[in-house]
Amino acid sequence: MMERLTDASDRATAREAEWLGDALRAQARRAGLVGKSVADSASDCVRCDEPIAPARRAALPGVQLCVACQRRAEKERRCR
Ligand SMILES: [Zn+2]
Repeated sequence: MMERLTDASDRATAREAEWLGDALRAQARRAGLVGKSVADSASDCVRCDEPIAPARRAALPGVQLCVACQRRAEKERRCR
């Protein structure tokens, strides 16, 4: 895992974005989406057919699940 070093002056404003980025990267890793492109993203959730927000598709290239289903899937995985 790579930790990017940021200037202290950028840190305050970048902190939330970086946290989000880390969370999304971790989510992509867990969902097996590493190396996917935005074109691989599903426009609708493969589980519940709910549309997936364009921002989510862009932030998580290759994403196939909506937020709710992703959470459920991760919970199921943890229980196994
Ligand atoms: Zn869903």
